[in-house]
Amino acid sequence: MHKYFLTIVFLLSCVATRVYADEGMYPLSEIHKLNLKSKGLKVTARDIYNPGHIGLIDAIVQVGGCTGSFVSPEGLIITNHHCAFGAVQAASSKEHDYVTDGFLAKDKSEELPAKGYVARITDSYRDVSKEVLSAVNDIMDFVARTKAIEKKTKEMVAEVEKLNPGKRAEVAEMFAGKSYMMFVYTFLKDVRAVYVPPRSIGEFGGEDDNWVWPRHTGDFSFMRAYVAPDGSPAEYSPNNIPYHPKKFLKVAAEGVDENDAVFILGYPGRTYRHRTSYFLSYEEDVRMPYVADLYQWEIATMEAMGKNDHAVAIKLSGRIKSLGNVMKNYRGKLKGMKRLELTNKKRQEETALQTFIDADGDRKKLYGHILSEIGKVYDDMHTQAQYEFALDNLRQACVSLSVGYTLFEAAQELKKPDLERESPYMEKNFPRTKESLQLALQNYHELTDKIFLKEMLTRASKLSVGQRIPAVDSIIRGGNPAEAIDRFIDRAYATSTMNDEKPVMDALAKSPEELEQLNDPFLQLAKALFPTYQQLKETRQRREGILSKNSGLLVDVKQQLLKKDFIPDANSTLRLTFGNVKGYSPADALYASPITTLRGVIDKTTGEEPYNTPQKIIELYKAKNFGRFKHKKLNDVPIALLYNLDTTGGNSGSPLLNARGELVGVNFDRAYEATINDYAWSESYSRSIAVDIRYVLWVMQKFAGADFLLKEMRVQTSS
Ligand code: ASP
Repeated sequence: MHKYFLTIVFLLSCVATRVYADEGMYPLSEIHKLNLKSKGLKVTARDIYNPGHIGLIDAIVQVGGCTGSFVSPEGLIITNHHCAFGAVQAASSKEHDYVTDGFLAKDKSEELPAKGYVARITDSYRDVSKEVLSAVNDIMDFVARTKAIEKKTKEMVAEVEKLNPGKRAEVAEMFAGKSYMMFVYTFLKDVRAVYVPPRSIGEFGGEDDNWVWPRHTGDFSFMRAYVAPDGSPAEYSPNNIPYHPKKFLKVAAEGVDENDAVFILGYPGRTYRHRTSYFLSYEEDVRMPYVADLYQWEIATMEAMGKNDHAVAIKLSGRIKSLGNVMKNYRGKLKGMKRLELTNKKRQEETALQTFIDADGDRKKLYGHILSEIGKVYDDMHTQAQYEFALDNLRQACVSLSVGYTLFEAAQELKKPDLERESPYMEKNFPRTKESLQLALQNYHELTDKIFLKEMLTRASKLSVGQRIPAVDSIIRGGNPAEAIDRFIDRAYATSTMNDEKPVMDALAKSPEELEQLNDPFLQLAKALFPTYQQLKETRQRREGILSKNSGLLVDVKQQLLKKDFIPDANSTLRLTFGNVKGYSPADALYASPITTLRGVIDKTTGEEPYNTPQKIIELYKAKNFGRFKHKKLNDVPIALLYNLDTTGGNSGSPLLNARGELVGVNFDRAYEATINDYAWSESYSRSIAVDIRYVLWVMQKFAGADFLLKEMRVQTSS
């Protein structure tokens, strides 16, 4: 008995330590509780966020799924090369290959409209948990529960947006089923590319070096936000004027050094640290291996397509890059999960938690069921995985079908009142949906699309009984499935117009009846698949209802056990994280120091992709022409910095700030071991990577000849 009790105490203390060390992405609501001084920072919580006054957060933007920051009074934004990549790729052609050569606008009139990009700045937040949860009750079924929360939040958002014309509002779930925050954003719709280095700098090392330290990539770019002449947010127009941010960051051209305190403000996308072992096992055993393998195959296919055709290579480059990024991240996570036995550790914590719950009659009544109910959801997901992956990837992999499906769905949704529509079809979001269709078609390549559709239909045709997809069955009915799929594909691509911008844009305004008359094979396939996707949506709403209700309870009981507050998982809302510039030991007997230099770029250079440094950089290095941007002790230009902050995807482009809140780098990646951050953070292996501001400024001045931009940022160019 005594031994048993000690085991429980030991397991519980493991849980407690883990929770403490994990939590480093602080939402705005938590910042004032922190003792920033004790962390070496010279800024106060009020300097960062001071409701009703100007703070550092007014300089932070969410842009292109990443973070950026204002660095001039004229709306100049610094972010990553990989964040502006889509804009530059869309503006590139064989004649103007900005991806390879880079792009510099000599003045504002030359800046490139970044189609599909918007910039959001956080204005304010408030806790709306009570209001949101007033929409649900305990007798509702789980689908109704999910729908009720969706409806309620949409109504609340509409009300806030009506009171704040031109602003955007969003309700963010902080703890599933438990707490919600309403954020109000300034929403800028005209964003342009200003400077993007050539790929040989901005993506130096390519996929080989992605998620790797030591790093030598100049992953930065500059964009600019514009507004209407009266200062209100507006879609692109040549008459628009630069946005004047309330705050822009001071650039600290002297940079930082090893051990210096640094912090980041940014928009981390998603972490899953409060999820259960059931979730982790689903990720580890089922979802991530499937996706990593599928993406690997898709990438190989696309690379083969672009091998002898540069125009095709440009079209497919964005997709290859983003799938490659996810694939390598998943491989890193899978390795880390195994190494750390993460699922098993979580399971042990849950066993301890269940013991705590069962030890008290009242507690057991309230919380006794939660872990097993969550477990059942994931059991179902395990069973249905192949079916659901087939459906998801059918639409994701194949552009023609995805466009056809969007048109079909739009026709259904546009009939409904605005608030009842799916989000992409609501009036305020519809222009963006149109733009993403245009971008998808711009990057369309027929042969790739055909190969992907064939693969996905083949996978779907092999699903087991009980998981059949009627629309796929009717394609392969009566005969050899492989031949039937080939026949369908030949006919569909020969007659469809779902790959051509003009007819697609025309069809976007049509009613379901008018669409029917077009007789397009991809619209017909979308129609046949529609009920299956609707059913899947409902299944997911049911699961979400169960998970949300039980996850809220899970957090409650964990808090009782550990007697502490938790930090909510990242959810694309603004967060603060702090720490120090610091090396680490990635493997036995190895130590990695935290600053790389230009010498490392030259050492890695082979003259071939992805290590093909521009000749001018090599010459500047040989001449030791470092100007005022060299690291004195290292006697070289510092390239990248490593630090122990808590970041994830979405933090790309976040400003790395020194103790005084001045810009010293731009966050862009993590070390391979830190891909696991999303599930578990640890001081020993969680390291993030920024491009050093001194490299940014040096490239701008010495390589790109963009002194005028340095001047705009108020950076002195001579020492
Ligand atoms: N390079 C990364 C990404 O955007 C940034 C990170 O996740 O740390 O995927």
